[in-house]
Amino acid sequence: MRANSIQKPLKNPALPGLYIHIPFCRAKCAYCDFYSVADLALVPAWIDALEREMALYSREEWQQACFDTLYIGGGTPSILEAGQIEKIIALAFMHFAFADDAVIYAEANPCSADLEKLAAMRRAGVTRLHLGVQSFGGDNLSFLGRSHTADQARQGLNAARQAGFGYLGADLIFGLPGQTLKSWQADMEEMLSYKPEHLSCYLLSYEPDTPLWARLARGEFDPLPQAKAATLFALTHDFLTRTGYVHYEISNYAANKELVSCHNTKYWNRAPYLGLGPGAHSFYKERRWWNLSDVNGYISAIEKGKKPVAGSENLSVEQRALEEIYLGLRQSAGLDLAAVGEILNFDCQKAWENALQALNANGFVSRQKGRVVLTPLGMARLDSIAGLLIQNLPL
Ligand code: SF4
Repeated sequence: MRANSIQKPLKNPALPGLYIHIPFCRAKCAYCDFYSVADLALVPAWIDALEREMALYSREEWQQACFDTLYIGGGTPSILEAGQIEKIIALAFMHFAFADDAVIYAEANPCSADLEKLAAMRRAGVTRLHLGVQSFGGDNLSFLGRSHTADQARQGLNAARQAGFGYLGADLIFGLPGQTLKSWQADMEEMLSYKPEHLSCYLLSYEPDTPLWARLARGEFDPLPQAKAATLFALTHDFLTRTGYVHYEISNYAANKELVSCHNTKYWNRAPYLGLGPGAHSFYKERRWWNLSDVNGYISAIEKGKKPVAGSENLSVEQRALEEIYLGLRQSAGLDLAAVGEILNFDCQKAWENALQALNANGFVSRQKGRVVLTPLGMARLDSIAGLLIQNLPL
């Protein structure tokens, strides 16, 4: 399986990551705007097309690349049969070169995370499993339109350990209408009883063209007020850091700093990554491109020998600076003032001095060796703080 392996150090932020998007889910969750379909009859033809997409890229600029992460996301990877997941991983290692200590991630949904499936994923080489739990409250799961129950989530967490996953990540969502501090704390407490190595706590967002967005527009419920959401965010930070987790990105916590997501960190640090599968995005040498969000269109483009690319852009200096600012501020490592200054050929430190002093006096940022680090209070106001800094740039 690892015929192309090249010895390289683990977690080298400069090495590229490989992402494979599994475009299938049992049903669409009410809040989700990721691309996926429920027609599993398309899976065999899609896997054939995926292999041809791998072949197209492995013959070109990615031929010399050494990946140190493989992330199988979606969609719902665990909805595939065990043999199909094994085949996809084997194909990736056949077409691309990976570091010997490359880390393989996969996402799973509790509706399809039975012990047999998870054990097969583990045998196929997946070492880091992320389970989309979202909540242990039945009403919350119904509101979100999840296709699993709270008990299935509990069974999935137990099955992951029984399957031999020493690294278990889980997702929770907070900020639901009417959510109380007590109910959110109960969700987090129950999650910690499984001792996950990684925890993502996402604030519910209402994405255009999703069923939840439409329900909100029809006035069917009142969203949680922003101030309440900020209080829940603060509770999350306080509770999880008190129990020893490292808050390393606005929505992400790791049991220790060695266990941060070395794949997602590539996105936040603007490292190169190749995304394969319908709707997947890629980034290389300041160019971004994205695939067709349509399984049939994806398959037919590849059958014609074409890459299934829907669009691309070469990032301008301004776009690079904006990405650096937003991505830097969302991480606990903070925003590197020199990096933004270098992109813009501009003295950010001087331009932002007054704004940063005011933000610091209000407890929103700290200054650490040439970096601006948001406090938890500041992280809850990321967009407005980034907007304030951007106003003072020559863009
Ligand atoms: S399971 Fe995940 S990818 Fe699929 S619809 Fe739900 S949130 Fe979206």
